[in-house]
Amino acid sequence: MGIGTNGTNTFNSNSNGAKIGGVAASSYSASTVALHAGRPEGQGQAVVGGIVQSTSFIQREVGEKVEYAYSRCSNPTVTELEVALGALENAPAAVAFSTGLAAETALFLTLLKAGDHVVVGETIYGGTIRLVQQILSRLGIEHTFVDTTEAVNVAKAIRPTTRLVFIETPANPTLELTDIAAVARVCKAAGVPLAVDNTFLTAVIQKPLDLGADICVYSTTKHIEGHSAALGGAVVSRDEGFLERLRFVRKSTGAIQTPLNAWLTTRGVRTLPLRVKQHAQSALHVARWLQAHEGITKVNYPGLKSHPQHELANRQHIGCLHGGVISFELSGGVPAAKRFLKSLSLITLAEHVGSIESIVTHPATMTHGDVPREQREAAGISDGLVRLSVGLEDPAEIVADLELALKAAALVEEEELVGVK
Ligand SMILES: *Cc1c(COP(=O)(O)O)cnc(C)c1O
Repeated sequence: MGIGTNGTNTFNSNSNGAKIGGVAASSYSASTVALHAGRPEGQGQAVVGGIVQSTSFIQREVGEKVEYAYSRCSNPTVTELEVALGALENAPAAVAFSTGLAAETALFLTLLKAGDHVVVGETIYGGTIRLVQQILSRLGIEHTFVDTTEAVNVAKAIRPTTRLVFIETPANPTLELTDIAAVARVCKAAGVPLAVDNTFLTAVIQKPLDLGADICVYSTTKHIEGHSAALGGAVVSRDEGFLERLRFVRKSTGAIQTPLNAWLTTRGVRTLPLRVKQHAQSALHVARWLQAHEGITKVNYPGLKSHPQHELANRQHIGCLHGGVISFELSGGVPAAKRFLKSLSLITLAEHVGSIESIVTHPATMTHGDVPREQREAAGISDGLVRLSVGLEDPAEIVADLELALKAAALVEEEELVGVK
């Protein structure tokens, strides 16, 4: 990455991707790349890479250049994950972090310093809002939250000191979309790099770098690991210079992924395309069912024709797949939503998305509980909104669980009408 005159961040795309059996990974489909990229290939090597827990690596001579020295800087188990994640986006090896927020923090510290400005999508992961508002601002890094569903809003918010635009699409938890290619054009014209949080769809369904973005950010905790068993984060880019600076920040702040969690996450990558496709197909089935239910006033899912940006969804998302996350509002508002959440038996109430099991969340009190009510409501997160991450259970059984809980929620409305407590 170049640092332009007057401190701007300039990006190159000098992609040199991974190889699988000597063939460029980019010539294979996502399922094959996910299964093979980064795996051991040598004669007599284990078919599955081991977990190298060692903190340190032997050096034969003082001053000799070694690939691995200390596991805060790099580790072979972490490298296997990084090669696999980079290969999925035709990029050099990714940089892996202990959590998604550690990845975002390192990204911000790499590109921003006191006096700089960052443009951030207003409907975005709650933890990202907290990081920008309560931590970056303390370091003298300014921000503007904008509605990125219109690229022109991004153009208007860019200042001479803007050094990064950070967006999330689909937005969490309203499932509004941002046109990545349109925002990328605005950013290119202004000479500002664009980062996209691609956690909800992953490279299987959306490839921001191919649409003109410079950086992809992931919470691998979600779909990529996918089994609710390991936290993690990753940054993918085709700019080697930027990746080098990012690795320097990771080493300096101590945010690298652990070997065990890297190994678990790599195992998740191996089945990622298969899982993500099934999540998306089941989510469409559930979203259509919810839409037809009388107890539901609104369903947000990009795969529905009723979604205001359905046409953009079909253009931007690969294979007519739209992810595993749905959000919806109950006609009975907060009391009905509370009873509904309590009455589910198969679907788990937890703060999570993108895992094998179906999970519901109440964003207003859980993921976005720290976001001030006014800001929350402006971003479309009402108190009655429920987020559902559709898991890999039989879709008919997911629907059956929702149906019973919606019946219980409807009773709350009736009780209120007759004044029962
Ligand atoms: C969970 C999440 C994060 C943060 O990731 P952690 O691994 O929990 O730190 C960031 N962005 C999105 C969209 C997320 O869902």
